[in-house]
Amino acid sequence: MDQLCKECKIKIFGRVDKKFCSDQCRTTWNNRLNSDSTKFMRNINNILRKNRRILAGLNPSGKTKVTKTKLLDEGFKFSYFTNEYITKSKNVYRFCYDQGYIALDKNLYTLVVRQEYVE
Ligand SMILES: [Zn+2]
Repeated sequence: MDQLCKECKIKIFGRVDKKFCSDQCRTTWNNRLNSDSTKFMRNINNILRKNRRILAGLNPSGKTKVTKTKLLDEGFKFSYFTNEYITKSKNVYRFCYDQGYIALDKNLYTLVVRQEYVE
C-alpha cells in the first residue's frame, strides 16, 4: 500500500516506513506539533486530568464529602472543569470528565461520579 506524507498527503516513494516526503514536510509537521497553541492545550488537558485524578483519588466509594482545603492541598484547580450539570433545583455540579463535585458550603464539597447525574 502506498504511504502518504503526514504533512502534505502526497504519495511517498521509497522506504515503507517513511512518514514524510521531505525534510521540509517533517520540519513543518514537528513545528506545528510543538506550537504554542498545542502546548497550551496540552497544559490544560494535563490540569484537567490532574483534577480528575485528585477527585477520583478522594472518592473511591463514588460519593463522599471533602473540604475545600483538602482539595487545594492536593493541587486541585477550581477554574478548570470539563462541564457543568445544573439540576432542576439550580444546584450546580462541575465535572472533570466523569468525576464531579458540588459545593455544600464555603469549605465543604460533595464528590460524585458522573453516571448518577447523566440525563
Ligand atoms: Zn510532504
